[in-house]
Amino acid sequence: MPSAKIYYDQDADLNVLKDKTIVFLGFGNQGAAQAQNLRDSGIPNEQILIANRPDSYAEDAKAKGFKVEHDFVKAAKAADVVFILVPDQVQPRVFNETFTPNLKDTAAIVVASGYNVFFKLLKFKPTQDVVMVAPRMIGSSVRSLYVKGKGFPCFVSVEQDGTGNGLAVALALSRAIGATKAGAIDSSVYEETAMDLFAEQALWPNIIMLFREAFSVLKDAGCSDEALCYEMWMSKEPAEIFERAAEDGFIAQLKHHSTVSQYGQLSGALALDGTATREHFKNILHNQVLNGKFSGEFTKIEADLEKEGDENPLNVLYKKSEETELVQAEKRVRSRLANLL
Ligand code: NDP
Repeated sequence: MPSAKIYYDQDADLNVLKDKTIVFLGFGNQGAAQAQNLRDSGIPNEQILIANRPDSYAEDAKAKGFKVEHDFVKAAKAADVVFILVPDQVQPRVFNETFTPNLKDTAAIVVASGYNVFFKLLKFKPTQDVVMVAPRMIGSSVRSLYVKGKGFPCFVSVEQDGTGNGLAVALALSRAIGATKAGAIDSSVYEETAMDLFAEQALWPNIIMLFREAFSVLKDAGCSDEALCYEMWMSKEPAEIFERAAEDGFIAQLKHHSTVSQYGQLSGALALDGTATREHFKNILHNQVLNGKFSGEFTKIEADLEKEGDENPLNVLYKKSEETELVQAEKRVRSRLANLL
């Protein structure tokens, strides 16, 4: 694979957005951050429209001085550019019903995550541009880094170049939200979705499982709940290790640890045979993520995620996870700590 292209501010021309009406569908984590950054980059407030149902998000947008449209059909008709910044699971329903039939033939549609485009769950006209501008940061950081004059990591791609101007629009929007300051990485909805879902369905489940099993083994060996919770995560040591990994290097950060620790970690990691894990990971990537199995199953439960109690499958998973030894112990430790305060 060749190295990815990286786009900077000088690759983007904000004039491409001149006189365009830019609609933000959603004013949540990403919507609020990106809309404010875009305005602070010099895009006139009159060109920006927030499409949101009448509730606290809409009130927040109004309080921040934005024009708000509650009628999504009207917002769709006005849009030259639409950022889809509502949760991934509601996008197909909301966008396909209200935006798709009413958008201009030459509109540019912007997603901040590859999921719905990769799995073809959103409907576009072939004459429209479909681009991804996907910050690798939570919304509050997208805003706070911008305010500090800093950039943030972001993926950018053109998935459908209906007007022939898709890249110029994608780069101008990336610059306007502050994403090209530190460099926006040329990517694709395939790459973004593969990495995102792989991390969520393969890497982190294994990390959760490793912590769960490590907890049980050490508890069986006589370690206290208090000591274990602090040792394993409540001290924030794992967060510091990852912070150092980002700053110094994934392995180079080990130099901050004691010599005993360095020797133990390096010799231990090299001695572990990753073959079975690699096969397990490949299976999840190909037979669960990329083949659409997960996305198909998730679509079926999407409506249930808004239900209460045990009718909501996410609540059931939380309940089951809370039965584990690690979570039960942590609850006891946290309630003792709360009583001490
Ligand atoms: P949020 O959960 O913050 O979205 C909330 C917004 O969506 C509100 O404006 C809310 O308004 C609206 N919304 C929710 N449900 C509906 C509905 N049924 N109909 C209409 N509007 C609805 O989303 P995020 O900002 O977290 O995510 C937006 C996109 O950004 C996603 O594609 C996500 O993958 C991507 N992304 C998110 C990151 C993050 O940090 N969270 C990081 C990078 C990318 P109301 O309820 O009033 O209708």
